[in-house]
Amino acid sequence: MDHFLYKNGALHAEDVPLSEIAATVGTPFYVYSTATLLRHFQLFDEALAGLDHLVCFAMKAASNQAILRTLAQAGAGMDVVSGGEYLRAKAAGVPGDKIVFSGVGKTRPEIDLALTGGIRQFNVESEPEMETINAAALALGVVAPITIRVNPDVDAKTHAKIATGKSENKFGIPISRAREVYAQAARLPGLQVIGIDVHIGSQLTDLAPFEQAYQKVAELTQLLRGDGHDIRRLDLGGGLGIPYARDNQAPPLPLDYGAMVKRTLGHLGCEIEIEPGRLIAGNAGLMVSQVIYLKSGEGRDFLILDGAMNDLIRPAMYEAYHDIIPVNEPAPGVPAAKYDIVGPVCESGDTFAKERLMPPVRPGDLVAFRSAGAYGAVMSSEYNSRPLIPEVLVNGDQFAVIRPRPSFDEMINRDTIPAWLL
Ligand SMILES: *Cc1c(COP(=O)(O)O)cnc(C)c1O
Repeated sequence: MDHFLYKNGALHAEDVPLSEIAATVGTPFYVYSTATLLRHFQLFDEALAGLDHLVCFAMKAASNQAILRTLAQAGAGMDVVSGGEYLRAKAAGVPGDKIVFSGVGKTRPEIDLALTGGIRQFNVESEPEMETINAAALALGVVAPITIRVNPDVDAKTHAKIATGKSENKFGIPISRAREVYAQAARLPGLQVIGIDVHIGSQLTDLAPFEQAYQKVAELTQLLRGDGHDIRRLDLGGGLGIPYARDNQAPPLPLDYGAMVKRTLGHLGCEIEIEPGRLIAGNAGLMVSQVIYLKSGEGRDFLILDGAMNDLIRPAMYEAYHDIIPVNEPAPGVPAAKYDIVGPVCESGDTFAKERLMPPVRPGDLVAFRSAGAYGAVMSSEYNSRPLIPEVLVNGDQFAVIRPRPSFDEMINRDTIPAWLL
């Protein structure tokens, strides 16, 4: 569910017409709904009610300060995967004891940053990383709380680029070696082993792979406790999928996910942590773009937009589907037209959709890409020297620019000229 609906023939974000935002900031732009962000966070929070739990937003999905602050004020923790994300979380007011540090290649400076600023736990992904965190903690005279990310070798049945839980993926340590690696961790005086971490992939549309993974985590918890480890926190990762196409079968709801977590892990008495990103932010954001040209090719019509793959790379990178709808509500019964919907970038990959049936639109019309709130703005670039597009946050009948569009001068002046070229 989201808060982007037609009212009086015009697509709104909550109570703000998108055309009004377009008139203020220009196109293309990203727009987020506060109500949708909060609702999705609360769905997870409620789904885990009755368990000691913390929902940590995987902020790699959407990391604007205003989005983080919205969620943090509602009680969310943050899952970060870089020093930059750690500092963004801190800047948004998230206390260190609500920040979890994930990621397969944490550097020593990043580890130092988190140990100095405060951290809930590191999710350790390898033995060499374990050694580095230990050394960093000893040098600073602190003890680093850790979980170890285990790779449960389950098939998440998602796009290969976002599957992480098979043994051939680079993530975590094989679950078969877990006891050995936990024993090694327990011998390192700079570390305090507190739990287990698992994350098997993103955009999962079925609970079965999660359940398989969590059953393995439950067994491992008992084994490790038997070995004398104080396993009291389970980090279950993120990955719950969202409906990108409205006519598709809907992925499982957070409530069903929560019930499955309670069923598989509830008896262990552990604190439960989850790290959803996409499900919180995905359907809370749109990308709005303007039709520049309608070009008739041989046997197909191209809709050329002012938004491009540098602004929203998911279709080019993951063959991702986004619903694309007109901002002016089509009259009922208008026959659909078929378009190839493309951006202006000089690559054939700059194609958002092929032979997409949608209500007819004309140059100058606005269209909205639905479900663009996660892995949208954060993955954008200035390829083709197209300045990063602005982000806007709506709250009821108010809206605010939360990241302005840089001017061309700002974009160009970030380059510096070496002395020998002056
Ligand atoms: C990407 C990632 C997440 C979030 O995944 P979503 O599919 O966006 O929910 C959570 N945890 C880790 C370790 C990740 O890498």
